[in-house]
Amino acid sequence: MKQGKLLYAGKAKSVYRTDTSNTLIVEFRDDITAFDGGKKDTLKNKGSYNATVSAFFFEYLEKHGVKTHYLRMLDDHRMAVRTLSMIPLEVIVRNVAAGSIVRNYPFKEGTKLDPPVIVIDFKDDSRHDPMLNDDLIVALKLATPAELRKMKKIALEINRLLSLLLTKQGILLVDFKIEFGRQGSTIRLGDEISMDSMRLWDKETRESLDKDVYRFSKGDVMVTYNRVARRITTVAARPAAVQKKGPGSSGRAAKPKTKKR
Ligand code: C5P
Repeated sequence: MKQGKLLYAGKAKSVYRTDTSNTLIVEFRDDITAFDGGKKDTLKNKGSYNATVSAFFFEYLEKHGVKTHYLRMLDDHRMAVRTLSMIPLEVIVRNVAAGSIVRNYPFKEGTKLDPPVIVIDFKDDSRHDPMLNDDLIVALKLATPAELRKMKKIALEINRLLSLLLTKQGILLVDFKIEFGRQGSTIRLGDEISMDSMRLWDKETRESLDKDVYRFSKGDVMVTYNRVARRITTVAARPAAVQKKGPGSSGRAAKPKTKKR
């Protein structure tokens, strides 16, 4: 498959056309940004860590019945994906109060949110991604009521599956952001699921294992991303059937599936 023209360049990823129908290439660049692009850097290998973790999650979710745009990895930082018509919504699932809901509402950081809270923002940088509600989403014709119900249902299922997987690695899934797109009448998970789009805490120490390390200068973000990528993609973190220690399972951290640049 040949990479074609650049279709779209976001803050950390670029999307290219290909010579294959209904297939695009997503390149995970080494760029990292925070605070609406107010803080930015380029960090060697960052793209490959996020691509590897995203691919791992997409494969895991597909295996458990979640439809995604993921097709395959092309190298350590490029992914072949199905072409979707993206819905400009950021669907955020929160299990623990942190980040903007602590700043904007009277939640104490670390409060468990049970049932999880879904927040949906309008993906529009010029408006600073304002929070929407169901009526606004329908009035703005961003999604139909049926699509909205479907996205929320898939988001909660993704939350259940990812929480299950991460908890086995001693990681608390605090919150995450996902984006959806349409392929005909089918809604698929698009974009990425990585340390850039999730808030992850070590269950014991409550240490940040995600982009908050970069946002709030809590340490060397690349050391964190390297460690967490290995921790997430470890054999022991795989679904229940493989979790039992069997032949060939040494319990050691598996290398991410792709080579690092
Ligand atoms: O900043 P806030 O607390 O609203 O973020 C909630 C979650 O969504 C975090 O995991 C954050 O990394 C993710 N997020 C994102 N992209 C955005 C906004 C939030 O990945 N534009």
